[in-house]
Amino acid sequence: MIAPETIAQIKERTDIVSLIGESVRLQRRGRSFVGLCPFHKEKSPSFHVHPDRGFYHCFGCNESGSAIDFVMKTSGLDFVEAVKMLGERAGIPIQETRSAADRAKKSERDELYEVMSLAATFYEQSLGLGAEGALAKSVHPLARYAVAELERRRLPSPTAHTEESRKLLDVAQAFRLGYAPPGWDGLAAFLKQQGISHVVAERAGLLVAGPRGHYDRFRNRLMFAVMDTLGRVVAFSGRALPAPTKEELSRFAPNGPSYDKGDEPAKYINSPESPVYTKGEQLFGLHQARAGIRQKGHAILVEGNFDVFSLHARGIDNAVAPLGTAFTAEQAKLLKRFAPTVVVTFDGDAAGRKATRAARVPCRTGGLDAKVAVLPNGVDPDDLVQKKGAAALLAVVKDARGMLDHLIQDALDGEGFLGASLAERVARVRAVAALLADEDDPNLRLMAKRYADQLSAKLILGGQSPTDVTQLERMVAQAVSQAGSGRGSAGTQPEREPALTPLDKRAREIFGAALDFPELLNDPGVIEMLGVAQGDLALAVAALRQFHPGRASFAGSIEDFLAALPRSIQKFAAGRVAAPAFEDAGTARAVLLENLKQLSNSLGRQDDARDVDALQRSPSTLDAESEERLRQVLERARRRHGID
Ligand SMILES: [Zn+2]
Repeated sequence: MIAPETIAQIKERTDIVSLIGESVRLQRRGRSFVGLCPFHKEKSPSFHVHPDRGFYHCFGCNESGSAIDFVMKTSGLDFVEAVKMLGERAGIPIQETRSAADRAKKSERDELYEVMSLAATFYEQSLGLGAEGALAKSVHPLARYAVAELERRRLPSPTAHTEESRKLLDVAQAFRLGYAPPGWDGLAAFLKQQGISHVVAERAGLLVAGPRGHYDRFRNRLMFAVMDTLGRVVAFSGRALPAPTKEELSRFAPNGPSYDKGDEPAKYINSPESPVYTKGEQLFGLHQARAGIRQKGHAILVEGNFDVFSLHARGIDNAVAPLGTAFTAEQAKLLKRFAPTVVVTFDGDAAGRKATRAARVPCRTGGLDAKVAVLPNGVDPDDLVQKKGAAALLAVVKDARGMLDHLIQDALDGEGFLGASLAERVARVRAVAALLADEDDPNLRLMAKRYADQLSAKLILGGQSPTDVTQLERMVAQAVSQAGSGRGSAGTQPEREPALTPLDKRAREIFGAALDFPELLNDPGVIEMLGVAQGDLALAVAALRQFHPGRASFAGSIEDFLAALPRSIQKFAAGRVAAPAFEDAGTARAVLLENLKQLSNSLGRQDDARDVDALQRSPSTLDAESEERLRQVLERARRRHGID
């Protein structure tokens, strides 16, 4: 844990405008700065940064927060890492108060990161791409099998001295591409030499304990290092290579595995889970792709590690892969830190289509906008760029459709809807019905009708028997009615905000002016008038007083202040904190007072209306108290109209 005072000090010492200014072009507007939002795509700036308050807010996508939030969201660091990074920037030393158990856990993790990094070095040196001089000595004599695999994929030869091959070397270095030799103890011997205990290497998943000691998990493979967002190696993924000849094996890997048993090794093997690696929580290539993803506003999600490498090697630098598991919500959330959109670009086969369908829910859970790019039948991204170049893949990505749109079209056109059996067609119509009923985006649901028409047209054209058509049409009708009314009427659309009443607007005018210049809350004229505030406005003003007791800066964090506000006004306040409307206190005061006066009037009118209503219902003769109330109502009405 980091002390709250340290966090507050770091926030105070951090110049949020220069921090954000490193990645977003900011221009001064009034008391804050504006720029194009890094969290969503936009053409005119709605992203505001307030220098003194250390707070940013986007009116387009509602992202807001402090410098720490900004670092977390843009570089994928967790809270503690972001605080440390800002601490370093601001020259504030950070002392973590941690239990002995925490410290032990951290040093264990640090130990594993170190072992992983050493292993990556061993694999890199064994492959020796571009190695010269002394380094060339550690290149394994059979590494050419790995180089041949790259050449088979039509990647530029790493030994040629062309511009292209230099680029390939850069990308290979960024991915820490390597070679695991075929012997049982290549890595084991290297680690021993480096003074690393085999037990620790086993915990890292690099060595396996056998009856005759530890041996290498990865053998005769092209190795990809899996890195976390900070670039630390947390796992490996190894692709099988063709078996060396018996002669080569006996010469260069005398204790190596034999390959004549006829058992094909698995095409890919990945590291097992460890204290530094949890399956489904990392994305292959994310560290290398993070700048490309942010810049392009979307990530390209492919199935295989080789697809990722191959795309990066050809300049498509925003590709990532889910590392052998189905795409998870955790991975979607991780991607969301870098861009709002993912283009799912899985293989053009049945497995790829299935994986695409399975990616829908995780994307939705992770808040990622999912699009689908469809590859030709039997083609994967690597094939496509090999044969037709990067431009062909980019064109497919450019044509990507929304996930729902894609899934519906896929269900209907996928593999000859009309040629399918009735049972198959019914199943597909059911699937579409379920998709439509489950969709909670109102815009997408509007398209339901269009799909229904398409479905009907298809059914009729299909020359079905009348009973078949009726049966299917009924299902379509049902699907559309479910889609049209289902979730909306059940009230599960939390995003839609209720329309503001004139009174709400008035309250926002008042609270906004006070938020721009909280010192106005100490102004005697304002204090007198503020008595008329009621409901959420009164609560909000109280919270502002508590967090901003007349001093120049907020007591406590802005986030805490926002959390203390009534929900109805939180989003409005977040925007106003980052983007004040008034530049000088005098104007703010005048507007504040004017609105308080208007509020007082309209509240008075409401009360009067209630009074008159009550009086009209009461018996014809008025008691003294009622008579007095009526007199006051009339007097207020006269004052309002300037009649004295
Ligand atoms: Zn935005």
